[in-house]
Formats: sequence, structure tokens, C-alpha cells
Amino acid sequence: MKTEQTRRHVLLNTAKGALGLFAAATVGPIILSACKKNDSAGKPTTNNSGDASQPTSCPNQEALSEQDKTVRASLKYVDKTPLPGRTCDNCKLYTLPQAGALCGGCKVVPGPIHPKGYCTAWIARM
Ligand code: SF4
Repeated sequence: MKTEQTRRHVLLNTAKGALGLFAAATVGPIILSACKKNDSAGKPTTNNSGDASQPTSCPNQEALSEQDKTVRASLKYVDKTPLPGRTCDNCKLYTLPQAGALCGGCKVVPGPIHPKGYCTAWIARM
């Protein structure tokens, strides 16, 4: 009985994880297409990369769904890393921005991802 409950629990959790990854992979590119470097909706104010032409945050984050915001918050995603040397652009899960866009994407965090951002799922790119 207990073994059956444990097996069911593992299967349910695996299915939930797979569904979350599928949703991130499906919705992420749609949001990324709206993430343009000079989009006025982003209203960047200061720079965190040392390059004055680069905004400090990704635009259009207000358009994210509540579920996407929850995933981002649960992994503590931020547009500016608190850990020097651990940034999205050196993370194995980062996907490069489209031509002309500042922000790329991520295989686990939905929405636009700043190259100098960070979350707790960071994995060193080899
Ligand atoms: Fe950035 Fe986290 Fe995605 Fe890595 S897993 S690219 S650190 S958001």
C-alpha cells in the first residue's frame, strides 16, 4: 500500500514537472518575440552591464501571465545577478536573443531573460 502511494506520488510529480517545462518551452518563444532591445515599453533607466546602451531590464515583463510570474518568482529570477560570474549568458539553460533583441530566453524560466540576469536554477555552461 505504502509503495503504491509512493509510486503514484513520484509519477504525479514527474508529470507536473514535464507539464511545466512544456509550458515554458511553448510560451517562452512567444514572449521573446516581443522582447526588443529598443522597445519603449521596457523603459530602461540605468545600466548593469557597463555598456550605457544596454537597458538594465527586459521589456514587456508586465505582459507575463500570473503562472509565468509565479515560476519566475519561485526560481528567484532577477534581471541583474547578485552573484558575479553567474549570469544567464553563461548558463547552460540560456537561449540567445533574436537578432536586434536584448533579452534571450531560458529552457526553464518563461518570459524574456536578461543576459546579465540570474536564477537559482543556474547551471554553468561548459
Ligand atoms: Fe538564467 Fe536561470 Fe534560465 Fe539559467 S536557468 S538562463 S540563470 S533564468
